[in-house]
Amino acid sequence: MASSHTVLMRLVASAYSIAQKAGTIVRHVIAEGDLGIVEKTCATDLQTKADRLVQMSICSSLARKFPKLTIIGEELVVWVDPLDGTKEYTEGLLDNVTVLIGIAYEGKAIAGVINQPYYNYQAGADAVLGRTIWGVLGLGAFGFQLKEVPAGKHIITTTRSHNSQLVTDCVAAMNPDDVLRVGGAGNKIIQLIEGKASAYVFASPGCKKWDTCAPEVILHAVGGKLTDIHGNALQYNKEVKHMNSAGVLATLRNYDYYASRVPESVKNVLVP
Ligand code: AMP
Ligand code: MG
Ligand code: MG
Repeated sequence: MASSHTVLMRLVASAYSIAQKAGTIVRHVIAEGDLGIVEKTCATDLQTKADRLVQMSICSSLARKFPKLTIIGEELVVWVDPLDGTKEYTEGLLDNVTVLIGIAYEGKAIAGVINQPYYNYQAGADAVLGRTIWGVLGLGAFGFQLKEVPAGKHIITTTRSHNSQLVTDCVAAMNPDDVLRVGGAGNKIIQLIEGKASAYVFASPGCKKWDTCAPEVILHAVGGKLTDIHGNALQYNKEVKHMNSAGVLATLRNYDYYASRVPESVKNVLVP
């Protein structure tokens, strides 16, 4: 009898190779030149041919490799963002883009894979393009070098294409030394673990469970913390609503500093 541990490690190994294949599709669509952009709800909520092809590729690969996934219960849920940072993908900010595969058990995010298809794309022709970062709670996170922002510096990373007054107010309340506005939830967590930013602050709905599941695991596996703006842990069971209605607050270190500075006026607006 295969234990659930064996299934989890097979699932993580498959997610790793599936995410790498997804990265090649993301690059192929750009190379072909026709992004096939469709507006979902508005001009900042886009879908491209890459989103569609990667979604199909990941779902069919998972279904083929794990036809009996439901056998170990309804508790194991896989959250997939085929392309995170689609707006930036359509604007040529290619290293903002990631493919996210997150695995949750009994509502808790426990394993995650992030493929960054255009990692190194400005590093010259000899550089290896793309990378895959992965992690399992209690085991660690791999595929990158952990770095911290210099002590005492407050560098905030937040949305580039989904800004609002509330987002700006909350960022300002952190008393930042610098504010980085970049695309993608996956990309922002990479900034936290590579010492480019100290906190990811997004005081707005818009971000979904598939945006946070894999990134949250990578961050938690190296001792960081991701919650909503009130400090509540996010749940990833099958029935949970997809929208992270109360925003995102994530840090590698000094979580309490940032959490204590979220204004009450912001908390009052963002209902979990
Ligand atoms: P961002 O930081 O704006 O790149 O957002 C991170 C993730 O959340 C991306 O996958 C976005 O598509 C999603 N997101 C955030 N805000 C919104 C919004 N207002 N509408 C649609 N998607 C959003
Ligand atoms: Mg996304
Ligand atoms: Mg997406």
